[in-house]
Amino acid sequence: MSNRKELLGKTFVCSCGQTHTVPTQTILYAEDSLERLPSHLESCVQGRRIVLLADTRTWDIAGEQARQSLEKKGWSCQVLMIPDQDSKSPICDDNTFDRMNRCFPKADVALAVGSGVVCDLTKWLAFEHRIPFSVLATAATMNGYTSANVAPTIKGVKTLLVAQAPLAVFAVPSIVANAPFELTAAGLGDVIAKPISTADWIMNHLYNGEPFCRTCSELINSLEPYYFDCPEHIRERRPQAMEALMNALLYSGIAMTMIGTSAPASGGEHLLSHTLDMMSGMDGGEHDLHGRQVGVGTILSAALYEKIFEIQTPQLNSLPTLDRAFWARRLESVSRQYESKVPVTEAMIGKLQDQDRWRKFLDQCRSLSRTPKQIKQCLQAAGAAHTYADIQCSRDRFVDAVLHMHEIRKRPTVVDLAWMLGILPDAAEDIIDQWLTPE
Ligand SMILES: [Zn+2]
Ligand SMILES: [Zn+2]
Repeated sequence: MSNRKELLGKTFVCSCGQTHTVPTQTILYAEDSLERLPSHLESCVQGRRIVLLADTRTWDIAGEQARQSLEKKGWSCQVLMIPDQDSKSPICDDNTFDRMNRCFPKADVALAVGSGVVCDLTKWLAFEHRIPFSVLATAATMNGYTSANVAPTIKGVKTLLVAQAPLAVFAVPSIVANAPFELTAAGLGDVIAKPISTADWIMNHLYNGEPFCRTCSELINSLEPYYFDCPEHIRERRPQAMEALMNALLYSGIAMTMIGTSAPASGGEHLLSHTLDMMSGMDGGEHDLHGRQVGVGTILSAALYEKIFEIQTPQLNSLPTLDRAFWARRLESVSRQYESKVPVTEAMIGKLQDQDRWRKFLDQCRSLSRTPKQIKQCLQAAGAAHTYADIQCSRDRFVDAVLHMHEIRKRPTVVDLAWMLGILPDAAEDIIDQWLTPE
């Protein structure tokens, strides 16, 4: 783990030819993190005024303790509680942002106490007020802690904003281990996408000239055995597995910040989750936690790769036309993405016929990929979602998502490749029967 830590706070010229910067200076995962938090912040922040943001749950778990610890060391603390939405957890949207923004005090640094929504809102507000931000992470549930991105809903549409990465991340192992288990299982689902999304990155590197960085792509490889090879340790919340999971999430966020895109941690498997979220935005149906949906998407992507690996000589088709009726009021944004992807995939068709490049692509992906069986067994043994029913989907809704997920983003993924190779749409039902249907 020491090599990874050496990257913190550094700017360096990488063997990939790019210069990478890691804005995060401190990652502290220790039982006494709360006591040590003030001195760590003192070393990287000018001034002693801090604003703490939390919701009612995370405040009780860690917020009050953090405040006491800071005040004991002479910090002036202001607290902003993020209101619940319709008596459920808060959401990260423009309304909540505006409410919090109006009462945001003068401060030298902001501290988020929580995970997804609390972290995103704090990052966004701190960026708006041009102050650094830090986070006290309460669950191993997402890789967004260390990324610069915020994913708010603005005017009802899920949006991506680039804000800033945190200066410091703190976590207390016993708090992380006691987080609601579905949050931890979601963290596993998000991080398990890694080997499969890396295959998509290699595809885009070999066929679309996307910059590839080995350092970023291998940053969390040595952590993987701690959760992938013994997923029941996650279910049992064993300290070593939980620490590996938390670090894998934090450093996959750092890899995304280093390269400036989500390529190190996100590929076709993520599109399933984004599509299900968009569908629920359109029809009001349920959707599940990001990482739980991503885990199921990873089984699907791995099953597509398994079929792709069997192909010696690609026979290629163009992508199908956009299903305009399906997207209804989301049509404009979806068609903008899809329309800009079509020329890229058309250019890929010629290159995919080059036998040498095809073999190179298969060899590289085979060496790092995982089978759908391995991914499913890992998720199942950990107690994470691994069927469409686990993520609150009917079979019909799930089939709809699978057949439309390639339409929502302009970056090609394994899902587009499967359409171009004629694997989709026909194989969708078989893959769902074999891997994603409850027993
Ligand atoms: Zn994710
Ligand atoms: Zn690099």
